[in-house]
Amino acid sequence: LIEIGTPEHSVVTTCAYCGVGCTFKAEMRGEEVVRMVPWKDGKANRGHSCVKGRFAWGYATHQDRIMNPMIREKVTDPWREVTWEEAIAHTASELKRIQDTYGRKSVGGITSSRCTNEEAYLVQKIIRAGFGTNNVDTCARVCHSPTGYGLNQAFGTSAGTQDFDSVEDTDVILIIGANPTDGHPVFGSRMKKRLREGAKLIVVDPRRIDLVRSAHIEADYHLPLQPGTNVAIVTALAHVVVTEGLVNEEYVRQFCDWDEFQDWAEFVADKRHSPEEVEKLSGVPAALIRGAARLYATGGNAAIYYGLGVTEHSQGSTTVMAIANLAMATGNIGRRGVGVNPLRGQNNVQGSCDMGSFPHELPGYRHISDDATRATFEAMWGRPLDAEPGLRIPNMLDAAVDGTFKAIYIQGEDILQSDPDTHHVASGLAAMELVIVQDLFLNETANYAHVFLPGCTFLEKDGTFTNAERRIQLVRKVMAPKNGYGDWEVTQMLAQAIGLDWNYTHPSQIMDEIAALTPTFAGVSFKKLDEMGSVQWPCNDANPEGMPIMHINGFARGKGKFVVTEYVPTDERTGGRFPLLLTTGRILSHYNVGAQTRRTANVAWHPEDVLEIHPHDAEQRGVRDGDWVRIDSRAGSTTLRTQITDRVAPGVVYTTFHHPGTQANVVTTDFSDWATNCPEFKVTAVQISRSNGP
Ligand code: SF4
Repeated sequence: LIEIGTPEHSVVTTCAYCGVGCTFKAEMRGEEVVRMVPWKDGKANRGHSCVKGRFAWGYATHQDRIMNPMIREKVTDPWREVTWEEAIAHTASELKRIQDTYGRKSVGGITSSRCTNEEAYLVQKIIRAGFGTNNVDTCARVCHSPTGYGLNQAFGTSAGTQDFDSVEDTDVILIIGANPTDGHPVFGSRMKKRLREGAKLIVVDPRRIDLVRSAHIEADYHLPLQPGTNVAIVTALAHVVVTEGLVNEEYVRQFCDWDEFQDWAEFVADKRHSPEEVEKLSGVPAALIRGAARLYATGGNAAIYYGLGVTEHSQGSTTVMAIANLAMATGNIGRRGVGVNPLRGQNNVQGSCDMGSFPHELPGYRHISDDATRATFEAMWGRPLDAEPGLRIPNMLDAAVDGTFKAIYIQGEDILQSDPDTHHVASGLAAMELVIVQDLFLNETANYAHVFLPGCTFLEKDGTFTNAERRIQLVRKVMAPKNGYGDWEVTQMLAQAIGLDWNYTHPSQIMDEIAALTPTFAGVSFKKLDEMGSVQWPCNDANPEGMPIMHINGFARGKGKFVVTEYVPTDERTGGRFPLLLTTGRILSHYNVGAQTRRTANVAWHPEDVLEIHPHDAEQRGVRDGDWVRIDSRAGSTTLRTQITDRVAPGVVYTTFHHPGTQANVVTTDFSDWATNCPEFKVTAVQISRSNGP
């Protein structure tokens, strides 16, 4: 038992880890958090939480936090602590020097899905309005950018269709490439409840996730596909729906483009998409594919939930569109209990995308080339905007290596650890003349930084996060910023130093500006959020209280769009020197690269990443449980301890990426989604050999 003392006051705020967006009452004694209690009125969590959120405060006061700005001329120099004034003046003058020397487009920025909507909005605003370039991207690039692209193509909105409550009316849950009980635990528990009540379950995943078989739950179908064959499997499900007469023709005729549907139906009906053919390349028995398709199409309300196992592939966007096709063909859109639901990894990945963090889109997913939209923003911001899309993160790194991209402002993102092909990321950062990192800790990326601006935890912020169900919720300041300034204030100081007339005095004013510029946020204000607890966008005159379920009487784009989704095998091939396929995921007690959770009580549950390997593959290599092994890929090598388990199929190995010492991304390749450049984290050809340790 831990003696926590009597709390003196409490503040209701929103968890800063995963996309469920649980609200908590932070119980305080003075400036010290003594306990995080899940908030009974939280609409996303209804009084529940997971172990991550429960202990989500230790890192705020961790000794590793950097409290003062620091600068250095060369990355080999020691850091020099400076005042905020000196740090901001130095950063502004260096950015000016670089733009004067190398041109306007030699600089860029990265917004964070960990920061608030208001902070992401300001970063993209300073890049576009202050530096005159659209070289702004977000860490969603490496996770859910295919969701943004794919759902926008199919439905006309870059977001999930349902609220979490909708699962209570679901009869068939289809999970593909997600592990909700570890990645989104509170919603995973709601799924389990529904499954215990009798809902059916289909899991499409190379690994036997907990939901496949756990207490009182047994999946009706588990399709353990070969990593990289998502498109083939989803198209095979559609093949069964079309060829066995299971299409909801009434729905499709009313709400979708009929001509496009017919083209698509002809495509999927081809024999090469039959379960029997797809079995040969996916490894999933045809009977399982047929059974799962019949259950999805005929089992009542069917809802699809997916995660990074769908998006982080060279065909990530294609899979998202294939999923949308399947849902539309069966009429599983537009009411409670159905839908297409991306389980967003980070607390505010939906929000950072909504806020115009992509190089081609202004807030509200409006293309930068649209003259009328640009004119609206130019009038509000008082600066001309470039009509040409900017560079994505991988393109910024390529351009840095080529010598044309020279400076980057990175807020709340550790790209050296989170992005693929670590060696390439390092080369890009090393080639820049100015790397500005704004973060809590000296992360791995900061090894290449020239300016370090200390950041704030969510406990030190006012603002909003938007969760996986488009729910906008307040983040309330629990304690004063330890470094003196909120992240939004730091961006504002930089904006003022480069001559922008920014004078926000509270994040609520930033949201007012977002609402004035963004039709889907037109009815959002801090006052409304305080009164209602949360709203789900679109929130405007037509939907003043938001919209829990979208596309009820037709799609945002008009008619739903069927897209032909041809399966194209990844260029990453096994065989020869690299006979195994490595895929990655998360564990319940840790969050992403672990920068926060490794500095909380959570570290006790999972002190290191391990490599799951099938007994057959381990035996072939003379590897025992707990042995150190070296993992080699075409991109690099790393070392991990093994865990022998039949959770993974023969030929597949699996690890998490929560600890920097073992850096799984050293071995991942630079292959990426054709539409969005989202990296192919989930498929890497590797070889495993015994090792004496790191
Ligand atoms: Fe909720 Fe996710 Fe935070 Fe856990 S990590 S408490 S599920 S928001």
